[in-house]
Amino acid sequence: MLNEKKSKVRSKGILFIVSAPSGAGKTTLCRTAVDFFPDLRHSISYTTRPPRENEVNDVDYHFITPDVFDRMLKKGEFLEWAEVHGYRYGTSVKDLDSVLKKGCNVILDIDVQGAKQVKERTGEFFFRQEEKWSAVFIFILPPSMKVCKERLKNRGKDDKETIKQRIANAKVEIKESMWYDYVIINDDLNAAFTILKSVITAERSKQERMERLVRKLYSK
Ligand code: ADP
Ligand code: 5GP
Repeated sequence: MLNEKKSKVRSKGILFIVSAPSGAGKTTLCRTAVDFFPDLRHSISYTTRPPRENEVNDVDYHFITPDVFDRMLKKGEFLEWAEVHGYRYGTSVKDLDSVLKKGCNVILDIDVQGAKQVKERTGEFFFRQEEKWSAVFIFILPPSMKVCKERLKNRGKDDKETIKQRIANAKVEIKESMWYDYVIINDDLNAAFTILKSVITAERSKQERMERLVRKLYSK
């Protein structure tokens, strides 16, 4: 797939929050987006879930013990966190800050409970103090629950009971898509990625995110 050329002109850092029921294809779409946009980074979450086969520590997740998670939580190190399917997951403020500082945008693959916490904190002065961060909320849907279940089975990483639990949770999660900014149906992967790519491209060009650049141009 073609890569977007690195541009010298950047809008200010955006958090792209992507949620979906398990099996909808969120991981696949987020990875494709990170490969496509040179200034887009994936936020690596902290989790108490054990790694699946082929998952690499500090690449897919930071795999940590419940004790370490508790410690981070107490110190207020998470922007958001949630218990999902029996394990805890969280996003580190410090990690996000260091990526945003480099002028990159970040894609966060997080569940609906975590996304809600990010939404509630929108408008807070956060990273680097002088700047309010902004977030865009994107929900990925499977074409049907049957397809979703099939994808989980074919992925071959979860046992029968886990798949059952994930499908049961899916219906609750899908209802939450109502307050997201965008909803993308992942039927054909290329078509879904074209929509995701368009959303990211358009959001980066929003007037309020380009203000700093515009001011720089007319004040010279
Ligand atoms: P999630 O992260 O939402 O749980 P994944 O990205 O792991 O989902 O996708 C679940 C499975 O479905 C994977 O095996 C992936 O390769 C496959 N998949 C993802 N999108 C599509 C698609 N549009 N068509 C067919 N298979 C897909
Ligand atoms: P999985 O175990 O399949 O990798 O992820 C299970 C769920 O946890 C997915 O819905 C995923 O989006 C969510 N998740 C992963 N990282 C985080 C995180 O840092 N915070 C929250 N709230 N959810 C996360």
